[in-house]
Amino acid sequence: HIEFRDVIKRFGSNTVLDDLNFTVAQGERVTLIGPSGSGKTTILRLVMTLEELTGGYIHVGGIPLQYKESGGKRVRVPDKERRRTTQQIGMVFQHFNLFPNMTVRENIVEAPIHVMGLGKEEASSKAEGLLEKVGLSDKKDARPSQLSGGQQQRVAIARALAMDPEVLLLDEVTSALDPELVGDVLGVLKDIAAETDISMLIVTHEMQFARDVSDRVMMFDQGSVVEEGRPDKIFSEPEHQRTQDFLRAVL
Ligand code: ATP
Repeated sequence: HIEFRDVIKRFGSNTVLDDLNFTVAQGERVTLIGPSGSGKTTILRLVMTLEELTGGYIHVGGIPLQYKESGGKRVRVPDKERRRTTQQIGMVFQHFNLFPNMTVRENIVEAPIHVMGLGKEEASSKAEGLLEKVGLSDKKDARPSQLSGGQQQRVAIARALAMDPEVLLLDEVTSALDPELVGDVLGVLKDIAAETDISMLIVTHEMQFARDVSDRVMMFDQGSVVEEGRPDKIFSEPEHQRTQDFLRAVL
C-alpha cells in the first residue's frame, strides 16, 4: 500500500501539492484525473523518488520512502534504504524506456538478475511466463525497435512485473500509442488488475479505462483533491463543478 501524509511539493515558489493526504490500500486501484498541471505526474514521480519531497511523508508497504520521523524530527532516509524501498515499486511510463540494445527477454531479466539476485534460469522462466501473460511469447528475441509501440509498452509492463512489485505506477501509458494499439495495452492491464493483488496508482486520460479498472477515482485541481469516489459515481454524478467541467471537456 501507499500512504501520503501531509505531502507538500514546491518547485521554487510554485506550490504544486499542498498538504496532500491519501492512502492506496493493498490491492486497491486508484486513478488520478484532473486538468493539465494539476500535479498528477508529480505525485507518481515523488513515489518513484524522482522528485524530492518538500514536506511530509510517503510510505510504501509501511516503509518511509524519502523522509521518516525520528526523535520527533523529520529526517532524510539514507540512499541505500531508499533504493531498497523503490525496488518494490514498478513504474510504466508514457515512453516505454526499454533498453534499445537488449532483446525483449534481456530487458525483462535485467533487474531480477542484477537487483534481486535471481539466477539466470529462474529469471528467464519468469520472463517467459510474463511474456505469455502480455501476449508476446513469440517476440522474446526481438529488439525493442522491431516492435510496435503497443508491443513495447506490453514489454515494459512485463519488465515492471518481473520485480514482483508491491505497487505499480502507470503514467499515461497509452498516450504515445496509435489509437488502434491502445486496446491491447489496456486489456493486459485489466487482466493484471483482475489476477493480482498489486496496488496501482494510475494517471490516464483514458476515461473508459479509469472507469473499468479503478476502485477509486481522485479528481485533482491545483494540487488538491477536489472530489473522490467510486468511478461510477465520479463519472456519472460528479458533485463538484470543477469535476463536471473537466469531464465535459474530456469525455
Ligand atoms: P499533465 O496532465 O499535463 O501531465 P499533471 O497534472 O501531471 O499535468 P504535473 O506534471 O505534475 O501536472 O505538473 C504540476 C505542476 O508542477 C505544473 O505547474 C508544472 O509546471 C510544475 N512542474 C512539474 N515538474 C517541474 C519541474 N521539474 N520544475 C518546475 N516545475 C515543475
